[in-house]
Amino acid sequence: MYDYLVVGSGLFGAVFAHEAMQAGKTVLVLERRDHVGGNVYCETKDGIHIHKYGAHIFHTSYEDIWNYVNQFVKFNNFINSPVAYYQGHLYNLPFNMNTFRELWDIVTPAQAEAIIAVQRRSITGTPKNLEEQAISLVGTDIYMKLIKGYTEKQWGRSCSELPAFIIKRLPVRYTFDNNYFNDRYQGIPIGGYNKLIEALLAGVEVRTGVDYLKERALYRNVAKTIVYTGSIDEYFDYKLGQLEYRGLHFETERLEEVNHQGVAVVNYTERDVPYTRIIEHKHFESGTQPVTYITREYPAEWKRGEEAYYPVNSEQNQRLYQQYAILGRQEQNVIFGGRLAEYKYYDMDDVIKSALECVHKRL
Ligand code: FAD
Ligand code: UDP
Repeated sequence: MYDYLVVGSGLFGAVFAHEAMQAGKTVLVLERRDHVGGNVYCETKDGIHIHKYGAHIFHTSYEDIWNYVNQFVKFNNFINSPVAYYQGHLYNLPFNMNTFRELWDIVTPAQAEAIIAVQRRSITGTPKNLEEQAISLVGTDIYMKLIKGYTEKQWGRSCSELPAFIIKRLPVRYTFDNNYFNDRYQGIPIGGYNKLIEALLAGVEVRTGVDYLKERALYRNVAKTIVYTGSIDEYFDYKLGQLEYRGLHFETERLEEVNHQGVAVVNYTERDVPYTRIIEHKHFESGTQPVTYITREYPAEWKRGEEAYYPVNSEQNQRLYQQYAILGRQEQNVIFGGRLAEYKYYDMDDVIKSALECVHKRL
């Protein structure tokens, strides 16, 4: 009998398995996809690492998490500076003096502040939803051109039905600084994300192509403790109802061009363009290959049986999740962890931190 059966080989599962094994425990990892790594997995084509499940940029302010991942792989000095495309014009992101200058042809921070102060007047009190939060942060021009269309296609619902915290992920700055993140540390693993996952899972027994929920009878008793990182409602066979997730689909194209868009990420913020972003993968690692690969990312309704990419953290879904969490706590010898099992909009560093805290509490 194993000490731990880890269901899912994404970052949560891989970190948990690594730490448990280091502490002398026996671990079996099951993964239903045909590869390990969850959503950080990359495919290599023409020497370019293709982020198969969307652009992944590692960023963190936790020094211990930065040191942790650097034990396994070194990171390059990539800084994410995406641009937004709206009706034939490009605007720098996140919202900063470059964006304000492009929109209003102004020169100083005081001019930008004055424009935004007028445009945010309609919002008084604490913003109740994403729309109010966005207008209160950056005013109506930016909301209409760079936020509303992107957000409504990304989430498939109106900005007034979405939680305010989603837009607070983005910095707003009155300086000329196009760094998308405020975090102290940032980069892409040199050699790709698979190197990180392979190092974490080195020496761990892994079976891919196995869906634990379909083979529960076979695997239920193989370990003393199960660490489950799939969707929590699926684990309980949706018995309290279905949580909502946002789906995605990706279309990747090889182009006989050296440099297609000049930057790793372009956001398409108009509602009428069906995709949200085009990723040009080689720019994550300053690739010099003679060809390039781009991926269009299309948001989609999620249906059972498809990959769930984002939890939709509306109040209603949060209430349902809390009910599932209660069932989860009653489940004997099962730990629920990661983006899907905790129904949380976790970044990679948060997931690693959460997995480390979870495993060290038990060892
Ligand atoms: P996952 O990576 O989803 O892993 C869960 C694994 O469990 C999967 O491999 C799944 O196949 C497997 N599984 C599920 N059910 C079963 C089952 N029944 N049996 C067996 N296996 C099962 N974070 C950042 O920090 N920076 C970024 O730039 C960034 N960009 C992102 C872009 C996109 C489009 C998305 C969707 C996410 C992004 N993230 C980013 C978030 C990041 O992907 C997650 O924080 C992290 O990968 C979550 O790890 P996890 O282990 O919780 O989940
Ligand atoms: N967002 C937007 N316009 C943009 C980029 C982001 O309105 O050009 C909003 C959108 O609601 C998105 C949220 O900000 O869901 C968070 O963006 P982030 O880039 O962090 O999303 P992720 O990479 O997690 O999909």
